Amino acid sequence: MVTMNIDLIAQMSCNPAIGGIAKGHLVREIDALGGIMGELTDSVGIQFRLLNTSRGPAVWSPRAQCDKKQYRIRMREWLENEPNLRILQAEVAGLILGDEAGGRICRGVRLRDGRELAAESVVVTTGTFLNGLAHVGETRYGCGRSGEAASTQLGDQLRTLDLQCTRDAKTARLTLDDPDERRRMHARVQMRRARLTRQMPMSVARTSRW
Ligand SMILES: Cc1cc2nc3c(=O)[nH]c(=O)nc-3n(C[C@H](O)[C@H](O)[C@H](O)COP(=O)(O)OP(=O)(O)OC[C@H]3O[C@@H](n4cnc5c(N)ncnc54)[C@H](O)[C@@H]3O)c2cc1C
Repeated sequence: MVTMNIDLIAQMSCNPAIGGIAKGHLVREIDALGGIMGELTDSVGIQFRLLNTSRGPAVWSPRAQCDKKQYRIRMREWLENEPNLRILQAEVAGLILGDEAGGRICRGVRLRDGRELAAESVVVTTGTFLNGLAHVGETRYGCGRSGEAASTQLGDQLRTLDLQCTRDAKTARLTLDDPDERRRMHARVQMRRARLTRQMPMSVARTSRW
């Protein structure tokens, strides 16, 4: 696994929320497939809510606020203890493409310092970094998560590959969210042994319109 900064693996972007509308379902799907995200969320969560309950059960969505620092620390510990996984701190600047199939077969990655890593398959999970953009009032600048650099070289290369690219937009909100009395867990494993612990109220920032 190649990542830009090992200390910032699983650093949450701004508010330490896991889940929410649509994403709550995604986290549970990751859990069903054996991913650690939901289990970790349940273990470091400080506030749990079920969103969208004014509508039908099909769109109810669990969301947890987590201890931001603990989430990052525990995720790194978990990855470092994963057998057969090596973590390398570097920036991937581009994919190495073979000549087959019109240059659309990936043979590895090229790092920013020029090193190359061969691979039979490459999974790109650049999150919010790929050609990342921050909008602060009228100002707009390229960046990854707060204070981190955007992944522009890889983003530029992917654009040349005729792939469909879209951009997700996030705005700020401000309200006070009370926790649900019952903890709504993300992981099936934890759900069975869920116990009610003291939860924290949360302030949420909200803009009037986008
Ligand atoms: C403002 C904001 C608010 C959000 N709010 C919520 C929320 O309320 N609830 C929720 O569930 N989600 C929320 N999200 C989304 C959530 O942050 C992402 O879905 C989640 O972080 C994605 O995880 P990831 O592991 O895919 O990517 P990320 O956590 O973004 O991690 C990507 C990793 O890839 C690495 N990387 C990127 N490019 C390269 C490269 N070229 N070479 C090497 N390494 C690279 C980075 O170093 C980073 O470690 C929010 C996102 C933002 C920006």
